[in-house]
Amino acid sequence: MIPKTVDIQKEKAIKNQQSALSARTKKLEQLKEWIRSNQKEIEKALYADLHKPAAEVAVTETSFVVMEINAALKNLAKWTAPVKVKQPIHMLGTQAYIQAEPKGAALIISPWNYPFNLTVAPLVSAISAGCSACLKPSEHSPHTAALLRRMVTELFAVEDVAIFEGGIPVTKELLEQPFDHIFFTGSTDVGKIVMKSAAKNLASVTLELGGKSPVIIDQGFDLQDAAKKIAIGRFINSGQTCIAPDYLFVHESQKDDFIEALKHQVNGMYNANGKGFDRSADYGRAINAQHILRLQNLLNDAQTKGAHVEFGGKSSLDNQFMEPTVVSQVSEEMTLMKEEIFGPILPVITYHQLDDVIQLIRLKPKPLAVYLFTTEDMVTEKLRKNTSSGALVVNDCAIQFLHSELPFGGIGASGMGRSHGHAGFMAFSNVKSVLKQRTGHTLPKLLYPPYGLKTSGI
Ligand code: NAD
Repeated sequence: MIPKTVDIQKEKAIKNQQSALSARTKKLEQLKEWIRSNQKEIEKALYADLHKPAAEVAVTETSFVVMEINAALKNLAKWTAPVKVKQPIHMLGTQAYIQAEPKGAALIISPWNYPFNLTVAPLVSAISAGCSACLKPSEHSPHTAALLRRMVTELFAVEDVAIFEGGIPVTKELLEQPFDHIFFTGSTDVGKIVMKSAAKNLASVTLELGGKSPVIIDQGFDLQDAAKKIAIGRFINSGQTCIAPDYLFVHESQKDDFIEALKHQVNGMYNANGKGFDRSADYGRAINAQHILRLQNLLNDAQTKGAHVEFGGKSSLDNQFMEPTVVSQVSEEMTLMKEEIFGPILPVITYHQLDDVIQLIRLKPKPLAVYLFTTEDMVTEKLRKNTSSGALVVNDCAIQFLHSELPFGGIGASGMGRSHGHAGFMAFSNVKSVLKQRTGHTLPKLLYPPYGLKTSGI
């Protein structure tokens, strides 16, 4: 079943290359309409999988995908138009242009944390580029996966878009197939497995991975402003966001005030009715009890090694729940400073000099993002020039994802390749160089033997 689907999808991608753009536009418009008319169903599925509030679904899952569709519809003619290039002097008389064409059949493997967005947004890029695609949603968000199956079945022929649900065995079988491009969103460890498999068929890859994105508050910055933005960046979706601030640096003179400000903001956002975070309609849940166990272990390990819980810390396996939690007195030997936390725990570290912060960030693998709160351009420049990351965001957290003109992605352990908007379209496109020589004309004669006494004159 899987090999046959990939075969027919490869054929279809070639046909897409020949057919009018209106075919892609039609698919994108149908997808947009499906999302509009199924918004309530999408909300229900995401509530069942992750306890996501409807407003959060609108902002972080569906509106973003619709924005991606709108950007593609607006720009598709421009993105797919041939781009003429100038002729260098030794090529005078030739004509040349660059043409984006579909890479072919694509595999899109997605995670469970934003399971609608992270499956459908890459699909928008694939359709825009003219690729056919197989989708493999996460087995840990089954309600959304079932809804995605319905979406694919209602909207697309198998030769255009197919969906395969399941866990590791299904993904392994898919990874054996000769796809032309693999777009993977998930953990760094599985990213390595994907890249190794892609090498067997020399498929190109986009890897949207995880990691530890630091946040730094420059001395003197408005703490309520920083706390408000950090609270949502860290605790939205119960901390299960790839670009969430993972650990935080605050100047030693502002630590206590910052923690107070953060506590105030967190309570205002996620415990507004005062009945507790576990009874808040606005606070999410972990994807499963296993993840709560993992977070409890992180917290226990940190506390055993001397960390102090500033607030939060309560959790329940039955309820798949952990309170927004802030810990201080953390050190590098604690597991929560070594692994991506991916849950509602924020370690707070104090600093004396910004240079020490830069050194600590550089000791870790390159993150998806560095977040900085400062009013000084010189500090921004210092961070930009001395650290490497997929993005640098100043005075906010995680909002770079929503900016469709900004390529999104990581570097090194946090990923490779870019998505969203034009960058997403390019991820699924082959840049073909087309060169036309005039009949009867040649490049300089030097190229043609017999060389005899000709010497280099180029
Ligand atoms: P994951 O790597 O466990 O799973 C992602 C996908 O890979 C799933 O579809 C899963 O079925 C499949 N998979 C899992 N193990 C596999 C294996 N051994 N062989 C083949 N396929 C396998 O990730 P997750 O737990 O679903 O998601 C969390 C991770 O994703 C975090 O690290 C997070 O930072 C990252 N993430 C990154 C981005 C981004 O845009 N950079 C976005 C969201 C999540």
